[in-house]
Amino acid sequence: MPESLFLSTALFLGFAALAGLVLGSFATCAGHRLAKGGSVLSPAFSYCPACGHTLTLRENIPLLGYLFQWGKCRFCGGRIPARYPLTELLSGGFALAAAYVFGPTPHLLAALVFATLCLVLSLIDLETYLLPDVLTLPGAVAAFLCSALLPPHWTLGIGWEMALYGALAGGGGLWLISELYRRVRGVDGLGLGDAKLMLLFGALLGPAAVPVILFAGACLALPAGLLAMRRNAAEGGEGSEGGLHTRLPFGPFLCAGALGFLLAGPLLFHAWLGLPLP
Ligand SMILES: [Zn+2]
Repeated sequence: MPESLFLSTALFLGFAALAGLVLGSFATCAGHRLAKGGSVLSPAFSYCPACGHTLTLRENIPLLGYLFQWGKCRFCGGRIPARYPLTELLSGGFALAAAYVFGPTPHLLAALVFATLCLVLSLIDLETYLLPDVLTLPGAVAAFLCSALLPPHWTLGIGWEMALYGALAGGGGLWLISELYRRVRGVDGLGLGDAKLMLLFGALLGPAAVPVILFAGACLALPAGLLAMRRNAAEGGEGSEGGLHTRLPFGPFLCAGALGFLLAGPLLFHAWLGLPLP
């Protein structure tokens, strides 16, 4: 690789990772505010969730702001939850990988937008066990448009027919499972929020992605579910009648599966079928 090309590639990847950190910082803030029922944009400046002190510019820097202050608010000494810098780090890592996979294309922008939406939804689901319709349904429309309008490149731009099949498989399939579960057990097992989230992922990534995302989500949720059940049993709280009633938000695991597929889906299929890697 010529030196100038190497330099511009490194600059591009570095810039993408930086954009990912900033988007992660935005997602953290938006997720927290929406979970508390507030508005995304007001107040305009970030504040400490414990004491309300408005953060200075330096404290607002993704990751570094957290490290500068040893994870504590400078005013009230309240701990900043570790999931904030963790979200920023995840977002930065995803952006770096997506920049490597997609290159400087509109597909990269789409990947970053959907990843940020996934982070916001996951944070809200973790705090409230809800996936708000105001995010999932417009997200599904955007996913459909993205599939219909973008030229095909890697896992995106699958065309409107595939987007339609994917939406039917994802949203319809999960709705059916949750309906069956409700009829048989008499309680809600899967939220309809999860079905709307799969509607979005199906429209973005197509029908073949749906079983992969569900399988990956279940595999990731299982160890987390077992941990939550053990903790619940140890605390002897509401779960005393049996850990099966332990609540676990499924959204973050579905999001992880979908973002994994967005980056590496074709690699997975090729490895599985024993074909040469693309
Ligand atoms: Zn504070």
